[in-house]
Amino acid sequence: MMDHVVLTGDRPTGPLHLGHYFGTLANRVALQDVHPMYVLVADYQVITDRDLPGAIQQNITSLVLDYLAIGLDPAKVTIFQHSAIPELNQLLLPFLSLVSVAELSRNPTVKDEIAHSTQQAVNGLMFTYPVHQAADILFCKGTLVPVGKDQLPHVEVTRLVARRFNERYGPVFPVPEAMMGARPLLHGLGGGKMSKSRGNAIALSATEDETAALIRAARTDSERLITFDEANRPEVANLLTLAGLCLGRAPESIVDEIGNGGASTLKRLVTEAVNEFLRPMRKRRLEHSAADARQVLTDGNERARERAIVTLGEVRAAMGF
Ligand code: ATP
Ligand code: MG
Repeated sequence: MMDHVVLTGDRPTGPLHLGHYFGTLANRVALQDVHPMYVLVADYQVITDRDLPGAIQQNITSLVLDYLAIGLDPAKVTIFQHSAIPELNQLLLPFLSLVSVAELSRNPTVKDEIAHSTQQAVNGLMFTYPVHQAADILFCKGTLVPVGKDQLPHVEVTRLVARRFNERYGPVFPVPEAMMGARPLLHGLGGGKMSKSRGNAIALSATEDETAALIRAARTDSERLITFDEANRPEVANLLTLAGLCLGRAPESIVDEIGNGGASTLKRLVTEAVNEFLRPMRKRRLEHSAADARQVLTDGNERARERAIVTLGEVRAAMGF
């Protein structure tokens, strides 16, 4: 097996949801036993699409509690935050010199995020954060990046930065690969990418009742016979997909159990599948406190910073600074 270093992360903008789980978190849980892994709380990237970081400390703590709830083990995984690692952030300067403004403006994910942003004007960090992500991945010489589909263009930027740096200054960086999960783009209730910022997500921390209420309110259609037809019945297909992922079964195989039961039977089945799936996470969450989460970050920040100091030293030496 190849010797990988795994790096990935999330913005502390709200609770993690099932989209994260099937896009990237499940892969992390599996990979933590196999490879060294870094998981980044991308706190500086919160202000790409909003003016203020909001309830940042609270969001950071609950993100780390989400990690512990899904079963990430801080003894195996280095969990750290941008704002605690100055040497990581300093990599942004040389890296920005390696990409053109035209390359930055072509990024389809950035375009989509700008379209969903509520800000009056696009800020410079929104425009350049894919290069910041290159610093995130390359500071630890990451080679494998478990992410959802929206992140593929960003991993491309990182590959470009690594290749160009090596060409100009000598071989310092590996060229990393993206790794997609079982469902690289899970849709939210009501359609579109399931996203923290779009109000269409089932949080991993949702209670049984909250989960039931969210699924009950999801739009469907009035046809009694339940079929899996992504093109013509996207809302129904979406719910079947969700149930299938939680049950570890193909969504097509679930329709027979529902038959002519209509939306209410479908929703009952989906609610049970999701609640069953989230049960062990809910239990594990109760075993950890906010103080535990802070300690996880204190330890992780220290380890990540040691790594970043070494890489920045190599970069400066390669560049002749
Ligand atoms: P925000 O709206 O605040 O940007 P988000 O839900 O898009 O939140 P991120 O923190 O930007 O979440 O993404 C974290 C990781 O989860 C990324 O690897 C991303 O690709 C993955 N991810 C997010 N949403 C989904 C989804 N709906 N399906 C699959 N993967 C997803
Ligand atoms: Mg996002």
